[in-house]
Amino acid sequence: MTGRPEDNEGANGRESEPDPGPGHQVTGHTHAGGIEAPREGGPAEPVAIGPGVIQIDTLLGGWRRMTAGYLVEGPAPVLVETGSQSSAGALLAALEHLGVGPGDLAGVAVTHIHLDHAGGVGDVARAFPDATVYVHEKGARHLADPSRLVASAERVYGPLLDDLYGRLEPTPPERLHVLADTETVEIGPGRVLTAVDSPGHAKHHLGLHDSLSGILFAGDAVGVRLPDAGILRPATPPPDFDLGQAVHSLRKFAARRPSGIALAHYGLLEDAETLLEEAEATLRSWAETAERALREGRDIAAALEERYRFDTSHVSAEFREKLEVLNGFHSNAAGLRRWLETSGRMPAERDYGAPPPGS
Ligand SMILES: [Zn+2]
Repeated sequence: MTGRPEDNEGANGRESEPDPGPGHQVTGHTHAGGIEAPREGGPAEPVAIGPGVIQIDTLLGGWRRMTAGYLVEGPAPVLVETGSQSSAGALLAALEHLGVGPGDLAGVAVTHIHLDHAGGVGDVARAFPDATVYVHEKGARHLADPSRLVASAERVYGPLLDDLYGRLEPTPPERLHVLADTETVEIGPGRVLTAVDSPGHAKHHLGLHDSLSGILFAGDAVGVRLPDAGILRPATPPPDFDLGQAVHSLRKFAARRPSGIALAHYGLLEDAETLLEEAEATLRSWAETAERALREGRDIAAALEERYRFDTSHVSAEFREKLEVLNGFHSNAAGLRRWLETSGRMPAERDYGAPPPGS
């Protein structure tokens, strides 16, 4: 089935604001606006994390161990996640280093269309003209015509769009393939990737489960756990975050009994069962904190920061800045607030403060 993006809006056919992804919201809170993106040495070496599964550091902003892509090897190899457009150079160099020639890549799959996962799709599709681009039905139209997604990103990210992420080049619609829940992509004899519809973080989110290694590529559905921070944080950005859907998606992942979970941010965690339980507990804890803050008329971001900032007190201020850009308290608070106000759990009231852009 080749996806026709014009058919790919939600079941109600309603247009909704395309969302560029979590990240720093351009509001009065501007401390990360001038953040430096220092190169930390040369390109990172790709690492095998399972049989025929290669982790590639896509070096968002030149930062190591923040954004990963994964090459699943076989006669018809598939790349999972391109990273942002600004990562395309590092990614293409890594693939060349791995011996993947322009005619070799059979597919590019994105877990969702946030720019730190899919911003490089247009560039990578051009570099690998035979590759099919796999995407959730609710994301496909924005890969074919990124204009609204990029316009939304401009509003949310401000200068960080060009300084950090880059944009998104269109992919010819005939190269897109919409993946349905449980649909498989064949990589070789005995090796398929199974799509797992997994909304919650975003409505256009898919997990991809590799039958050979047992690894499940979880995008952002499980949260963000950077090796340099060592703690799991939920990723609850606007406009799609939904607690019930997010928990349901975690349980769908657990039911597949993966051998490990590969996070886009960042790397493989082998105890999938424990990680998924931790992810659910963490999500519920953040949602409770947000709900209490909203009921008490307090700022949600401030409440989250007060409760959870000590999680990262062991890492440098510079690193906390990076984490705030990638998966910050402000973006998560905006998503939790929107969910609370639209799920019927809380009334939307003006005196909770000005809504952030994009929410
Ligand atoms: Zn992400």
